[in-house]
Amino acid sequence: MTESRYIPFVYKGPREPDPERCAASVSEGFWRYQCSRKVSVTEAGYGWCRQHAPSAVKARCEARDRRYRAEMDWRKARWNVESAKADVAEVAIKVFRQQASLDDLEAAVAEYERADAMLAERETDDG
Ligand SMILES: [Zn+2]
Repeated sequence: MTESRYIPFVYKGPREPDPERCAASVSEGFWRYQCSRKVSVTEAGYGWCRQHAPSAVKARCEARDRRYRAEMDWRKARWNVESAKADVAEVAIKVFRQQASLDDLEAAVAEYERADAMLAERETDDG
């Protein structure tokens, strides 16, 4: 069962829809037309071209979601690195002022290295 959000608008007129052509209604500025391409697949009760087939719409939509999520994960990983680096600097200053110990600095550096390794992992994943 195709989820309705992936089914393009179906052309209903004013001209008689051509059953040999893709059922999708496409717009050009103000006007709407029936897609000019030939039917390639039948899904959800209509014939569609390869671009407008609900399964193709769904695949593009999911690919876009995956790219978006990967981008957000990458940004978060970068932010974690910058944040950990700022913490290292802050703890280093405290060590210098004898307000923190070298163990505190070691922990902050370990956190930074963990975040940096996670970012490096992301960068190799995405290619
Ligand atoms: Zn089409």
